[in-house]
Amino acid sequence: MFKERGKNVKKILVVEDNRMMGVLVSKRLQQEALYDVTWVQTLEETVQLLQTEKDDFFAALLDYNLPDAVNGEIVKEVVDRGIPAIVFSGLMDEEVREHVWSHKVVDYVLKEDAQSLNYILSLLKKLERNKQVKTLVVDDSKFFVRFFVNLLKVHHYQTLTANSGEEALAVLAEHPDVKLVLTDYFMPQMDGLQLIQKIRQKHSREEMAVIGMSSKDEQIIGARFIKNGANDFFIKQSTTTEEFYSRIAQHVEHLEYIRLIRESAIKDFLTGLYNRRYFYDAGGGLYANAKRDNVSLVCAMLDIDFFKKVNDTYGHDAGDEVLKHVASSIQKRMRKTDIVARLGGEEFCVLAVNMQDEAVNMIFDGLREVIASSPVIVNNGEEYSIPVTLSIGVTTSLHGNLDEMVKKADTLLYEAKEGGRNKIVSDCKS
Ligand code: GH3
Ligand code: MG
Ligand code: MG
Repeated sequence: MFKERGKNVKKILVVEDNRMMGVLVSKRLQQEALYDVTWVQTLEETVQLLQTEKDDFFAALLDYNLPDAVNGEIVKEVVDRGIPAIVFSGLMDEEVREHVWSHKVVDYVLKEDAQSLNYILSLLKKLERNKQVKTLVVDDSKFFVRFFVNLLKVHHYQTLTANSGEEALAVLAEHPDVKLVLTDYFMPQMDGLQLIQKIRQKHSREEMAVIGMSSKDEQIIGARFIKNGANDFFIKQSTTTEEFYSRIAQHVEHLEYIRLIRESAIKDFLTGLYNRRYFYDAGGGLYANAKRDNVSLVCAMLDIDFFKKVNDTYGHDAGDEVLKHVASSIQKRMRKTDIVARLGGEEFCVLAVNMQDEAVNMIFDGLREVIASSPVIVNNGEEYSIPVTLSIGVTTSLHGNLDEMVKKADTLLYEAKEGGRNKIVSDCKS
């Protein structure tokens, strides 16, 4: 038995009698994904291990053919203990396939395929991702609710359930972050089509995937499901487990892409802060609220001093590290409701709502001081400690509009630069 405990949290069980393959898989999982791998070679060792091993395994990779279990007996042994299992085998004929899927595995992978290790890694990543994905199964049949929940759980999805359309809407009101809804068609009172119409009043196809399901004799309903806003449709009795998982994963991935695209449209790639466009879009809203409700709004412009010199001395990559460090320091100092943006280059802008007048200068001067006293450590073969300072201009007056506010903060920033840098200049009197 080979055992290596890494830094990571996720424990993976590998059962593989072939030494070379075992070492290869274990090493790859540990190196690339930093999984904590426990590798055993037989069914007997596995059973023993699972008796004493108290911690939960995140997932298991199982060789279908073992010297003491030539017909895939290992699968049942592991799956029955609630461990999500990925089966790999040199042979995958119809019989083996059916046997594997009858045991609620995560997936199977063909061994000789050169891509198989990559595929296994991507499966494990999906399992991790799925832990964050909330799903809701709606069916008046308790049998089918349990059936689909069990399938989803094998892939580590979070699961919620409802036995009627009304109940489903109540669950969604409480969990608006559900990503995927599976709904039956025929249910008393509110049917699946009516439910989807209601869901779509609040949640678009781009943020919540809804998949309609029906029984064999209701095939005709498929098109109507889609027309009413479903992302997909399947017949409960004739969809294989493999197809079910593939479809679900595809929809979840699709939503994730849309989220990423939307985020990349409003965020700066390097620092993760909001970009200029978002700053003016969302900032306009904050500004209007502040004016209407007579709430205070603070605008601060922050600019790194002599940043060009950092690039010239330490290189552009080191400059990028400094930008990331400064960005995260600013973000940490502000509240979630504030807008922190990178307006361009090494220039940042903050719009802070409801900041106490007396606190304004203290907060921004504190930020200046934190930056000045924590040089950025960069290692590009050699280790450098790069001193960084910020100049900051702060205005607490609303002026005529957001643009004027930003311009005023920029003028004050210029004064801070003129005044010697590593300084804050503020028009806040308190
Ligand atoms: P000052 O104290 O007057 O602000 O001087 P400065 O050198 O910081 O200002 P200047 O505007 O002259 O130079 C800004 C530099 O920032 C020039 C540009 O190459 C660099 N820069 C802009 N965007 C990036 C980036 O994404 N990464 C890196 N590494 N550098 C950037
Ligand atoms: Mg600068
Ligand atoms: Mg500049």
